Amino acid sequence: MSSVLVLGGGFAGLLAAAAASPYTGEITVVERDAFPDGPQLRRGQPQARHPHFLAPGGVLGLERLLPGTTDRLLAAGAKRIGVGADLLFRPSVGAWLDRRATDRFGIGCSRQLLDHVVREMIRERGGVTFRSECEPVSLLGDGTAIRGVRVRELRTGTTELLEADLVIDATGRGSQAGQWLDHLGIAVPPAQIVDSGHAYATRVYRAIPGAESGFPLILIQADGRSGNPSGNANLLPVEDGRWIVAVGGTRGMSMPGGDDEFLEFARHRVPDPLIGEVLAEAEPLSGTMRSRSTANRRYRFDRVRAWPCGFVVAGDAATATNPVYGQGLSVAARSANVLRAAFGARGVDPTAADRIQRSICRAARDPWQMATSQDLQFRDTEGGRPTALDRWQLRYGDRVFQAASSRPAVAAIVSEVMFLARPALAMGHPAVVTGALLGPRRPAPGKPPLTTWERGFLAGGRVA
Ligand SMILES: Cc1cc2nc3c(=O)[nH]c(=O)nc-3n(C[C@H](O)[C@H](O)[C@H](O)COP(=O)(O)OP(=O)(O)OC[C@H]3O[C@@H](n4cnc5c(N)ncnc54)[C@H](O)[C@@H]3O)c2cc1C
Repeated sequence: MSSVLVLGGGFAGLLAAAAASPYTGEITVVERDAFPDGPQLRRGQPQARHPHFLAPGGVLGLERLLPGTTDRLLAAGAKRIGVGADLLFRPSVGAWLDRRATDRFGIGCSRQLLDHVVREMIRERGGVTFRSECEPVSLLGDGTAIRGVRVRELRTGTTELLEADLVIDATGRGSQAGQWLDHLGIAVPPAQIVDSGHAYATRVYRAIPGAESGFPLILIQADGRSGNPSGNANLLPVEDGRWIVAVGGTRGMSMPGGDDEFLEFARHRVPDPLIGEVLAEAEPLSGTMRSRSTANRRYRFDRVRAWPCGFVVAGDAATATNPVYGQGLSVAARSANVLRAAFGARGVDPTAADRIQRSICRAARDPWQMATSQDLQFRDTEGGRPTALDRWQLRYGDRVFQAASSRPAVAAIVSEVMFLARPALAMGHPAVVTGALLGPRRPAPGKPPLTTWERGFLAGGRVA
């Protein structure tokens, strides 16, 4: 029977294991951390403290790999976030999107709960061995084929050779795949990096009493049109009646220094004060946690001339985009679905690795283009200047987003593209092109399109 070795037990690694499990019962996941028994934080995923919206594209991808996971998440308290109905989105162009409901939805829950439920589903399916507190040291093989990995047990320091037909690197942003391949004489082009210097500051709040269920996800994007540094904010309803709230800013924004300044920032340093107003009477449950792991970074493994058999790189290890656009989990699910399709066609075939790798890189191309063209608007972004394509895309995107404030069909399509539930080509859909040409039906109101019930929470008093 063919064997698969997955390096890294984060979202991409777990889903890669799920993709392989119908085709082989010999899958090993090597993870540096000890896996917690429940939905708890762990060292190898510092980003898990910050809001993680599983966008509609990620939900679709996850369900293809592990049917029933969404229901399991919802049963554990995760929130179903319908595109339109449960989403308040203010893109950088400044006009809030129309909120007409569609049948697409994303999931609001802590990252710990998401990974925990996915791990449980995989354990129940069987065929996967988890080797925790263990890390890869080097690849086994040569410039033409990888046959396994030398790993080190972290508790004892002993090393061991693990052979496999296919090795999948899913060790996230810290992946060493480039260096490993280099060591074997395989030249990998340097990583492309586009870095807007975005900083995150996150606090957990208790949802205002009465708003524990049904409160929308709020996304307020930074305003890049002036090119100046700008703030952004988002509020994600999650399990256990909590909201995970992040504020952020591009390079040059001074971030809230302490807990007291968090609310101030949400009210006055973000293009719309809505989240600051919602939080005015909410009880904070945590201090402020920070992250700067936001650079867009991708390796063009698809441009390596002679890719070795038996080795594939997936998830953030291959392409990581600025998390402010909420794409990473969906890109990981796309990587895993590429694997699933390849295994379905030819089983676990080490000689298919180059084709699989090219498809994984292709699957991340649209998210990369969307994230980098947005980030390149900011004057202080490092790693490139906007190309003609970036500038055209932004101008077109602005017109589409303006139209989407009062054209529900346009809002539905553009949200699904942005959340990776539809290919970027859908931006050429006749309804979208017509919207871009004709503009909004009426001037955008400038105020968020809140329901009466939601508005009641702004004043701190509940409206029945
Ligand atoms: C602040 C922030 C907010 C984010 N918000 C969102 C969001 O709202 N929506 C969204 O879709 N995405 C979001 N993301 C992106 C998301 O976190 C990543 O895209 C996603 O985690 C990628 O999954 P992965 O499995 O590739 O990497 P990871 O989840 O980072 O997993 C990598 C795994 O490999 C393990 N590992 C690392 N090195 C080794 C090693 N040498 N040996 C063995 N194991 C190793 C780690 O312990 C970890 O378990 C956010 C990211 C950040 C930083």
